[in-house]
Amino acid sequence: MRTWVEIDKENLKYNILKLKELANNREVLGVVKANAYGLGSVEIAKILQEVGVNFFGLANLEEAIELQEAGINANFLILGASFEDELVEATKRGIHTAISSMQQLRFLVENNLNPNIHLKFDTGMTRLGFEVDEAEEVINFCKTNNLNLAGIFTHLSDSDGNTIDTKNFTLEQIEKFKNIVKDLDLKYIHISNSAGITNFHENILGNLVRAGIAMYSFTGNKKTPYLKNVFTIKSKVLFTKKVNKDSFVSYGRHYTLPADSTYAVIPIGYADGLKKYLTKGGYVLINNHRCEIIGNICMDMTMVRIPKELEKTIKISDEVTVINADIIDNLNIPELCVWEFMTGIGRRVKRIIV
Ligand SMILES: *Cc1c(COP(=O)(O)O)cnc(C)c1O
Repeated sequence: MRTWVEIDKENLKYNILKLKELANNREVLGVVKANAYGLGSVEIAKILQEVGVNFFGLANLEEAIELQEAGINANFLILGASFEDELVEATKRGIHTAISSMQQLRFLVENNLNPNIHLKFDTGMTRLGFEVDEAEEVINFCKTNNLNLAGIFTHLSDSDGNTIDTKNFTLEQIEKFKNIVKDLDLKYIHISNSAGITNFHENILGNLVRAGIAMYSFTGNKKTPYLKNVFTIKSKVLFTKKVNKDSFVSYGRHYTLPADSTYAVIPIGYADGLKKYLTKGGYVLINNHRCEIIGNICMDMTMVRIPKELEKTIKISDEVTVINADIIDNLNIPELCVWEFMTGIGRRVKRIIV
């Protein structure tokens, strides 16, 4: 193999159990949308089932169908919004769907469709969802028309922030949601995303939490100290060279490598998901030495500077740790977004469960 991502099954299971414990033993919905953040939704869902996760969150119908067709026997919730033809299909397949508009509720009634629905409320995200002050009307509509109201939820927009302002904003969202659900007894009432579990576990409402990025140890772009690393992208040294004069490295000549320095070429590039912004401050590990990324990251290759103490021993095919939670935690790159990074892991990168 040239470049691959190792998924640590035991650490993933550990993290789920830890999150469940933090959430006071509430049921955990595993958010495995976007191919489980790039790691492989079928494989990740199977691992989660081993620790009792039996409810999975997806972005759309197609993603839920992929798991059903793979034989995953569980409940599925489409977290986003669906088109009308998708509502019809989700109903047939017994897939739970989020509903954000009266138009869709009327569509269900007029077409005698009765899927398990989760009403989505907008408490501050301003994306999907009913307005908070529509709650009474919407819930009454569901009751009057005998709709299958399985759940009510909202989404936190800034729960991974770490200022007083972000904290207050999240607490306001929680308060608004509390007012909506205070007199309701539903199978599923849920508000917490990953940071809602790790940062706000004392304020959790409802009986279900939605774990996404925290399964991979993150709260925002930072590693959560008590959670374990799950994915490590690895590669191998493809080529090395010592330059005998000051030399520009890579496209655009943005980096000058001084004479008598050694660099290595690693077979991973932005087509594999190694984002170009990692040029500014990114590094890899070779035999436990930090080797800084130098020059623009290319589509299929990346150059790294080999420190003096490694020059003598580095060999072709030496293993390279390109990225893991600890490396991401150490980076201070404003463009970095760990969700974007993970979902951008390219097709050439083999997913290996260890
Ligand atoms: C994606 C998503 C999540 C998971 O978010 P994380 O921050 O990764 O935990 C939870 N809830 C909803 C509604 C989502 O769309």
